[in-house]
Amino acid sequence: MPAEVTAISGRACAYYLAGRCARTRSQAESAAAFCPMMQARGKLGAQTRDRLNRLDRLADPNDREVARRHIMQKTAEAIGALKCPDFVPDVHGQICIHQHLIYCQLLLPPCPGRCEDFLPRAKPGPRAQP
Ligand code: SF4
Ligand code: SF4
Repeated sequence: MPAEVTAISGRACAYYLAGRCARTRSQAESAAAFCPMMQARGKLGAQTRDRLNRLDRLADPNDREVARRHIMQKTAEAIGALKCPDFVPDVHGQICIHQHLIYCQLLLPPCPGRCEDFLPRAKPGPRAQP
């Protein structure tokens, strides 16, 4: 009877993140792992900058200030309304522990074990957990 073949763990790989693989393989695969919350915040930020830039069209400084406050309040409300069911706050309560750069770790593909792209990391980082 042949011996059972088991994959060698990828934990020592530089791309390994809590059981997931962060290696970029294609733009489409990377885009599928973007954190939707970050993307939505980025979009809101761009819309807000655009609106603030257009305030220069108002001649009266008081009108500009009122409009600026209104825009900022609406942006804060819209950001506050963004929810992710998998959000887990870090120790500071601001950033999600699943966030890795612009990606959501939960959306990255699982690491099946040491593969041909294995890149030994110098030292295991805090996220190199099963
Ligand atoms: S779990 Fe965290 S990182 Fe993932 S999509 Fe939600 S907020 Fe973004
Ligand atoms: S061993 Fe391969 S699949 Fe696993 S994290 Fe490294 S590159 Fe990704």
